[in-house]
Amino acid sequence: MRRAIVVGSGAGGCMAARELARAGMDVTVLEAGGEFKPLTLVLNMLEPVRQAGLFFDERMIQALFPAMRINKAEVGLVHVRGVGLGGTTTLATGNAVRYDRYLKELGICLSEEFEELASEVPQTTEHRAMWSDLTNKLFEAFERLGLDPQVTPKFMADPSRCVACGKCVLGCRFGAKWTADELIRNVDGVTVRTGCEVLSVVMEGGEARGVVVGHGPLREEVPADLVVLSAGGLGTPQILDASGIPTRPTLFVDPVLCIAAPWEEAHLDAQLPMPFVSQQEDYILSPYFDWLSFYFNKGWRMPSDGIMSIMIKMADTSAGTFDGHHLSKPLADADWDTMVHAIDQVYAVFEQMGVPAKKTFYGTLNAGHPGGCFPLGADESEALHSDLLPANLYVADASLFPRSMGNPPMLTIMALAKRVARLASA
Ligand SMILES: Cc1cc2nc3c(=O)[nH]c(=O)nc-3n(C[C@H](O)[C@H](O)[C@H](O)COP(=O)(O)OP(=O)(O)OC[C@H]3O[C@@H](n4cnc5c(N)ncnc54)[C@H](O)[C@@H]3O)c2cc1C
Repeated sequence: MRRAIVVGSGAGGCMAARELARAGMDVTVLEAGGEFKPLTLVLNMLEPVRQAGLFFDERMIQALFPAMRINKAEVGLVHVRGVGLGGTTTLATGNAVRYDRYLKELGICLSEEFEELASEVPQTTEHRAMWSDLTNKLFEAFERLGLDPQVTPKFMADPSRCVACGKCVLGCRFGAKWTADELIRNVDGVTVRTGCEVLSVVMEGGEARGVVVGHGPLREEVPADLVVLSAGGLGTPQILDASGIPTRPTLFVDPVLCIAAPWEEAHLDAQLPMPFVSQQEDYILSPYFDWLSFYFNKGWRMPSDGIMSIMIKMADTSAGTFDGHHLSKPLADADWDTMVHAIDQVYAVFEQMGVPAKKTFYGTLNAGHPGGCFPLGADESEALHSDLLPANLYVADASLFPRSMGNPPMLTIMALAKRVARLASA
């Protein structure tokens, strides 16, 4: 039986592993992190520390919540990702959005994969009954402004377990949210090894022979006939570079900025996050309680139930690198122009709600959709494989995206990973 290694257990890795096992391969998933535990389990311990102003650097969260990794870039941008079984999907708000416009422009049509995903991964738009008064009012304000709000499809393993606690990004402790590791739990042909950080791919005679795993100072070589890298938009380029395969300084991250205002009894902190989305050219707008700002941004030092907040998530230009320690993510003039335009639209929404712009305050600039450092070109639209790689080494994550989407990428990453796995196992 042919042996495959999949590196990383996020959206791309779990989908690739499942497809390779279906194709009859013996698959080992190597995941750097451990089993995921939600932060919500210790949440009540955090409030006194927050009120005392002792949370002053976002990186501190890692001590309490090892699954959340923070890197900081220029302009104070805080990058968040998940390290552990399920990858960053464990921190996701569960938005299930198909956004393959830029892949289509390259000639890549994933309609078949999206159709399969519709029945393989539970998604629902049946959550309006859970919305609060404020959410409904915001929806109407968006409508009045012609912003065409649409109910967000959500990945939900079991909607009946969702209590709309509003803490999806801290991990779901109710078993309501769907995360990617469900794709590989109890699947014949898939073995998962956690605590295995892959350092590089072993190359021999122009082929990948396996990978090198680091256990502290010790090294282990894990052999394979096929290697698929799905270590995410920051992890995969690191492994490629360490294996002598050059990546590009074209990192995108989809910057996020929340704009908030005091609102008595808002309770947005205990609402389904991002219940609806307004899709604009190069950005989206959606109601979102920003826990990162709530804990670490001095401007947010008020009770969580008294904050109304709207998220801007935008596509950024392809420029940036990550070397494992330093994240460089400069924002271009065009990015700031997009942000300013989006901010004006959020002010218009607040005005509709009767809140003047001078009463609003900003959240912390953050991001969590890295990709683009090993982008596909039009000449790779059939094979989804670069000539820079040996024939038996593939990439299956957002590193392949040709540009930033400014949209939730999980669904599109899974569709792409599905196709990559099929091609790789053919
Ligand atoms: C707060 C937050 C909310 C989000 N909400 C949504 C949402 O609602 N909808 C949506 O579509 N997207 C959302 N996203 C983005 C989405 O979660 C990610 O884009 C997606 O999970 C990326 O999939 P991936 O497989 O490329 O990488 P990841 O899911 O990040 O998985 C990569 C995995 O590889 C592992 N890894 C890394 N390096 C190594 C190594 N060297 N060796 C072994 N393993 C390694 C990591 O530990 C990780 O488990 C959100 C992101 C954040 C931060």
